[in-house]
Amino acid sequence: MNKETLMLSCSETDIARAGEILRNGGLAAIPTETVYGLAANALDGSAVRKIFEAKGRPQDNPLIVHISDVEQVYGLTKNFTPVAKKLADAFWPGPLTIIMPKKDIIASEVTCGLSTVGIRLPENEWARKIIAAAGVPLAAPSANSSGRPSPTTAKHVFDDMNGKIDAIVDGGECTVGVESTVVYAADGDEPVLLRPGGISPEMIAQVCGACRIDDNILSDMEAVGEVMSPGMKHKHYSPDARITLIDSDFPAYKKYVEERGPQDVFALCYDGEGERLGGIPYIEFGAENDPQAQCRRVFSALRELDEKGAKTVYARCPKKDGTSLAVYNRLIRAAAFRKIEL
Ligand code: AMP
Ligand code: MG
Repeated sequence: MNKETLMLSCSETDIARAGEILRNGGLAAIPTETVYGLAANALDGSAVRKIFEAKGRPQDNPLIVHISDVEQVYGLTKNFTPVAKKLADAFWPGPLTIIMPKKDIIASEVTCGLSTVGIRLPENEWARKIIAAAGVPLAAPSANSSGRPSPTTAKHVFDDMNGKIDAIVDGGECTVGVESTVVYAADGDEPVLLRPGGISPEMIAQVCGACRIDDNILSDMEAVGEVMSPGMKHKHYSPDARITLIDSDFPAYKKYVEERGPQDVFALCYDGEGERLGGIPYIEFGAENDPQAQCRRVFSALRELDEKGAKTVYARCPKKDGTSLAVYNRLIRAAAFRKIEL
């Protein structure tokens, strides 16, 4: 496809138009509370294949299916397991994807041949209206070109996808800012966290009694061999800049960065720290004690670094608990697992 992409608003008419495009096998980027999704009819294999083409997405990386009403789960999964139900009751609508056994009605292209499917009921009202207007469940990965930071504004989507998809629905800036938490709940009674996001492992444990964290989340190695969450083995965000995480307090970070700058060096630091860095160019990604703000900022900040032509970037290293784990997980991948402890 090489025609101009249609820009739509969240007016009733435009939402109906997006629904029609999707129902007819087209591709539309839609706002959700996590990041913008690149949606297609999840029951139509040829529509779903277009998502992989537009993104340049590896063929073994499954997509999440988005629904507008919790009752739709019964038509899409063989077993709405007790753990999955508990999680849905507690966190839907919201930024949680629950992995369950899949029914054949879902195109095999969505799940890349797996017997399970990830399902999410988004909180964003426009997302739910678009899904309802389409009248079918929507498969939707993040609406970025594969390898680029996930889009949190319609402009980010436009920069990556103009001319490659039918429409973009502009719903403003995403309120969570990182992709959904992914949790395995297809069997057993202990959920397994496969990807951290806006719902923290602590929040899941509170509801289910426990939450196992998959090894690939915390290991600082690139995942190899068989992994439960295929997306985690891909390098994911690879900005043009060479990023290194500096795991230290601010004084040690400042000293380290100032010794290497200001020529050819960029700092990726918390709010209010940049101007204390002795003339080093910087981008800030939220206040140190506000992980939600860091989630909202992290992907924009990575795009801004590339726009400014940053080559060598030293980044503050987020904590690994609560919602910070989601920010750490994205940044350590953007840094290709380079981390220095001071
Ligand atoms: P994205 O849509 O780009 O946010 O990526 C979706 C991610 O969800 C994938 O990269 C996988 O890591 C994960 N995922 C989706 N479906 C499954 C599944 N059936 N089993 C395990 N992980 C899944
Ligand atoms: Mg993605």
